[in-house]
Amino acid sequence: MPEQEDKVLGYVLCRDCMTPKQIIQGSGKRARFLRAKCECGASMLTGAKIQAKWAKYKTLEEVQAQIKELTTPTPLPKQEVTPADLEQTKQPSQSQTKPSGAVAWVIGGALAAFGLGFAKLAKA
Ligand SMILES: [Zn+2]
Repeated sequence: MPEQEDKVLGYVLCRDCMTPKQIIQGSGKRARFLRAKCECGASMLTGAKIQAKWAKYKTLEEVQAQIKELTTPTPLPKQEVTPADLEQTKQPSQSQTKPSGAVAWVIGGALAAFGLGFAKLAKA
């Protein structure tokens, strides 16, 4: 009898190798258990905790999105698009002579401008 092909039910994220871990329905004596396979290797743990974790499998797309989210640093909000910031970049001589205390003020101003821009977008 030929060996049965693995029946992949879904995937969970493996935080060790950061790849989608295949969740496969066990067969034969282990038919009631799930087993898992990823780049770390195959896992046939039957503990209730790990089985419950594997039972929460997702689709490959979901797990891939999860990996992308975890491996991509959160992008900072774009602040250079506001007119106020463009004004500031036109005067480099001023910003160079500013005392360091002003930097916090500039950042605060940029954040406020960003907030205003966002409010405008929300109204539109
Ligand atoms: Zn792994």
